[in-house]
Amino acid sequence: MSLALRLARQQPAYRDPRARAKDFDEIDSGFTFEQARVEAERCVQCSKPACAIEGCPLGNAIPRWIDHVVQGRLRQAAWVLATTAPMPELCGKLCPHERLCESRCVLGQASKPVAIGALEAFVGRVAEERGWFAPAPSRMPSGLPVRFAGAADRTDQSDPTDRSDRRGHPERIRGASGHVAIIGSGPAGLAAADRLLALGHAVTMFERAPVAGGVPSYGIPSFKYAKSRVERLVERVRRKGAAIFCGIEVGRDVTVRELRKDFDAVLLAIGAPRGRLLDLPGCGLEGIYSATGFLVNGNVPAECIDEADRREIRRGRRCVVIGGGDTSADCVRTAVRLGFEEVRCLYRRSLEEITGRLADRGYAQEEGVVYQFLTSPTRFEGSGRVERVVCERMALGEPDGSGRARPVPIPGSEYVLEADAVVLSLGYDVDRKLLESARCQLGPDGLVVDDNLMTSRRGVFAAGDVVRGADLIVHAARDGRDAAMAIDRFLREG
Ligand SMILES: Cc1cc2nc3c(=O)[nH]c(=O)nc-3n(C[C@H](O)[C@H](O)[C@H](O)COP(=O)(O)OP(=O)(O)OC[C@H]3O[C@@H](n4cnc5c(N)ncnc54)[C@H](O)[C@@H]3O)c2cc1C
Repeated sequence: MSLALRLARQQPAYRDPRARAKDFDEIDSGFTFEQARVEAERCVQCSKPACAIEGCPLGNAIPRWIDHVVQGRLRQAAWVLATTAPMPELCGKLCPHERLCESRCVLGQASKPVAIGALEAFVGRVAEERGWFAPAPSRMPSGLPVRFAGAADRTDQSDPTDRSDRRGHPERIRGASGHVAIIGSGPAGLAAADRLLALGHAVTMFERAPVAGGVPSYGIPSFKYAKSRVERLVERVRRKGAAIFCGIEVGRDVTVRELRKDFDAVLLAIGAPRGRLLDLPGCGLEGIYSATGFLVNGNVPAECIDEADRREIRRGRRCVVIGGGDTSADCVRTAVRLGFEEVRCLYRRSLEEITGRLADRGYAQEEGVVYQFLTSPTRFEGSGRVERVVCERMALGEPDGSGRARPVPIPGSEYVLEADAVVLSLGYDVDRKLLESARCQLGPDGLVVDDNLMTSRRGVFAAGDVVRGADLIVHAARDGRDAAMAIDRFLREG
């Protein structure tokens, strides 16, 4: 038997579910050096690695950097990864690897696939801790108008939307081919900034939230990925030379049209932030939260939340979360940590159709969450505050537009669940109002872009969830990288 087949797949040590359910700390510290080496030895080094070619949206050279891990050359491993992956520590921890790279690992045909995700997270973490990804504190962001110079760390209170002295400023494109405005600082915006800076362009980012980082900074709970690590990721891009202005909402404080006049190109990386609502009786009762409202206010310190978005989460004994994706797994696990004793997740289809990372659902179950499949709410009841969710059971019918079996109500199957809080986690849509005001063509999921990720407005590009609809970090990072390359071509070719 080959060495790869003899070695067992390594598992990072996870904290005891009872202990971890009491705090918001990450639930594992990843592979040890020895575990990483052993796991890396399981890779059979395929000459045409399907894990990388078909399985990884970023095209990471997986066997190559894994070989460096086997040889103990972690710095080289990190370097190879960083050539294609703008945020390996984040993707290593949060990608649904079982559906991506690991699903294409040949070892999976005879044994368990190589734990590529945990290895990537290991290399990313070591590189992050040792500062291999972070350049020395930068010179002033290249090409930044003087009035913005001190504001890159948000200490300058000058108004970054005041464009009076920008055009033709001598600093404007010194040492850079062009100056690009990026709207939104999530994975797509950060990945684009990273690549644009490497290509020699100046980058200014505008972020609506008080802190940069997108969904990983305010939506994804810190037990999945620590906020301090998102801060380090943002800091890395800042140190490379990006000016990042938080608390600036494009559409309110400055328009896309105005930015297009002042910058050589604009990238829309504003995600898909609109939580879907349910139109059911009782939806307006107190104690019914949107997923983002619940996650943000449950996980993020109040000072990092826009005042308009601050809500008090009233505690109680029973919490019902409706919906079955990544977000709902985060909501149920947040509810456990907020002290709800009985946490249920209702999903209208079956286990086979559920989306979201398998691992997170497993962790939720270990932490005491109960999943109720083929169940849908019909109304919410209570006097002023929600007290009950009336549910009905579902059967599966013919596939619908999404290709998944359509849930069909079973007549007379209604029953009642007591609830002190309800969280609606039904998916996200793009902010059509902002996009309409930007006069870019919209499709059913998001912005319409051409092969170069350019919108219907020349010089205005788009990347990430704003194009795809709610999706994955790795796809947003890929889009951001691709958009940066397209913007580079656009700026060079004119
Ligand atoms: C709760 C939750 C959990 C998730 N878990 C996972 C997971 O485990 N694994 C995974 O791969 N994916 C996960 N996802 C999906 C993933 O987070 C997204 O696909 C990814 O963040 C999209 O990146 P983005 O840069 O396109 O958008 P975002 O991350 O949404 O970033 C967009 C940024 O633009 C800013 N913005 C919006 N409008 C404006 C404006 N008008 N002006 C200025 N700034 C603006 C927003 O504040 C935000 O910071 C999760 C999503 C959610 C909501």
